[in-house]
Amino acid sequence: MAENLRYLEAIRDHVLIYDGAMGTNVLRRRLTAADFGGERLNGCIDHLVITRPDVIEEIHSNFLAVGCEVIETNTFRSNRIALAQYSLQNRVIEINRAAAQLARRVADKFAAETGIPRYVAGSIGPTGKLPSSDDPELSDIVFDELADTFAEQARGLVEGGVDVLLVETALDILEVRAAVYGITRYFQESGNRVALQVHVTLDATGKMRCGTDIAAALTIFEALPVDVIGLNCLTELEHMREPIRYLVDHSTKPISALPSAGLPLDVDGELVYPVQPQLFASVLGEFVDWGVSCVGGCCGTTPEHLKELVARVRAPQAPAADQSARARTSSTSAQC
Ligand SMILES: [Zn+2]
Repeated sequence: MAENLRYLEAIRDHVLIYDGAMGTNVLRRRLTAADFGGERLNGCIDHLVITRPDVIEEIHSNFLAVGCEVIETNTFRSNRIALAQYSLQNRVIEINRAAAQLARRVADKFAAETGIPRYVAGSIGPTGKLPSSDDPELSDIVFDELADTFAEQARGLVEGGVDVLLVETALDILEVRAAVYGITRYFQESGNRVALQVHVTLDATGKMRCGTDIAAALTIFEALPVDVIGLNCLTELEHMREPIRYLVDHSTKPISALPSAGLPLDVDGELVYPVQPQLFASVLGEFVDWGVSCVGGCCGTTPEHLKELVARVRAPQAPAADQSARARTSSTSAQC
């Protein structure tokens, strides 16, 4: 089996800093239907890797330039169920491969220029189905079809050169199981294996959309062939604190936290994410102090947020080391 496990080696070595949001940074650019490939494809952000790769490249570059080590491919909705909304369901491999190759090229360019290794995470968002729900339309899919859907997207991303597959913003634990099953089956069948990371999204009550809490999710993940587990996306930043603490205290696997810049507010018809870079960096810096292995941003986070985070995480540790040295000295003398 051809195993690319450099990402996991890096996680064991130091804290990895992910990039920030793709979607909200695309929306800020006020693109037109022509950019997306015409009226029929208007709003299909994932199709931009075909029609406007320069836009996606610029967003990747802006995050790499402030020191992010991991960038996510622009493929959050590049599965056949979500792409069918734009009649693109037969171009899953092409779109995922193109997005992965684009991110790989930009990441490798920055790595060569700076001497700092950069990693590409293949973004795999939900299909839009909720197999555990009792909504007849949303639950109208069988496990094997979901697994096949994720296996297909994984193939495009791995063939394009990603280091890790990131199943993210997961709302339904049954869909996560199908994703992990489909992806690991693809690894076995193709003989190609990369790292596998899974992020769930919790609401203000600390539960996934279909009611699973973090303790139940962790119990399931511990038994699955998942390398890294974590949380991402929409919640008040403070609401992520307790579940992350739970993971730090109970998980045997590395932990990742990629929150949004808070919950968006509607300001004159525009979504504004309220958490400013300094607060964002200080909360995530605290998570790192607890032992979290990957940090970065989701919706509403900009290169400024990530720049601040890089400064917080990579800051020289001298003052803290001095303090602990002093503490050790004083406690030693107290014992004497
Ligand atoms: Zn998000």
